[in-house]
Amino acid sequence: QANERESMYLVSEFANDFFQNTLHKTEQGKAIGLTYFKERGFTTETMQKFGLGYSPDVWDAFTKEAIKKGYKLEFLEKTGLTIVKEEKQFDRFKGRVMFPIQSMSGRVLGFGGRILTNEKKAAKYLNSPESDIYHKSKVLYGIYHAKQSIAKEDNCFLVEGYTDVIQFHQTGVKNVVSSSGTALTSDQIRLINRLTKNITVLFDGDAAGMRASIRGIDLILEQGMNVKVCSFPDGEDPDSFAKQNTLDELTEYLKENAQDFIRFKASLLQEESKTDPIKKAELVRDMVVSISKIPDVIKREIYVQECSRIMDISEDVLFDTLAQIRNVGN
Ligand code: ATP
Ligand code: MN
Ligand code: MN
Ligand code: MN
Repeated sequence: QANERESMYLVSEFANDFFQNTLHKTEQGKAIGLTYFKERGFTTETMQKFGLGYSPDVWDAFTKEAIKKGYKLEFLEKTGLTIVKEEKQFDRFKGRVMFPIQSMSGRVLGFGGRILTNEKKAAKYLNSPESDIYHKSKVLYGIYHAKQSIAKEDNCFLVEGYTDVIQFHQTGVKNVVSSSGTALTSDQIRLINRLTKNITVLFDGDAAGMRASIRGIDLILEQGMNVKVCSFPDGEDPDSFAKQNTLDELTEYLKENAQDFIRFKASLLQEESKTDPIKKAELVRDMVVSISKIPDVIKREIYVQECSRIMDISEDVLFDTLAQIRNVGN
């Protein structure tokens, strides 16, 4: 089994070299992929650091080359790089720009591939499938390049996408990782928890994204970490915002706009429940569930006081609800 995994790592490394080579050295790669990344504002240095690449817009160009170099179809299939259908072989990432996903120690585990056309029929991002070397729930995009800086800054920014991570780096903020589209998991949070107790979640400027992120945040509280959140102006995500600003401006914005998560959630729920008492009951409970996840009793007490003030509900009721929820074990 260890040998199989090793073979999968090797074929992934080969694919990584192949995609990068295609991006920088072939006519199609330069015309399509490189142009695309340049338009997004990425420098060559940034592309190299993150190993960005391009997968040729030909059904089996990558697979053919890999086979020719002696890589076995078995491992091409197991890593998901090649799809075998009716005895024919297809490149999974045909015609996409490529983002290698690295482990904490820098090994390539899988890829994200972004489509370039705006056709709606195909997914914007396609990822490697779960495999013996790529366990999506245990990986954070960017962790290899961010780990030192997370420890040094004693804070980790959590963003949604690949390009958010990369653009932040290029601007000069390096303590940033992404769960890359999958819902945040406890294993992913544990990776951060080893480096810092402080997380700042950066929302995309769309309401749907924010809702999804908020649900995942209870898992961070559960691990006793301090959580802040920060939004960007309407329609902006961390990538587009960083692209338009200098390092000083970005740092300043983050400092000014990051706020305590519990306080943020209490205000948000209070806003939503203003006109509807039934809804309010539900949202207060939702709020107390979040607080109940915090292991530290002193912090819980402080947050109950805060929420009582913000949501205009007595501390006694909040404490009773808290006790109820903690008794049922949530
Ligand atoms: P871009 O700026 O390239 O359009 P983004 O990173 O801002 O993309 P979002 O739409 O905000 O993309 O999605 C955030 C992340 O979710 C993406 O970076 C990607 O990892 C993941 N994702 C988005 N769409 C899909 C999809 N259709 N399938 C799988 N993962 C996806
Ligand atoms: Mn989004
Ligand atoms: Mn986005
Ligand atoms: Mn984006």
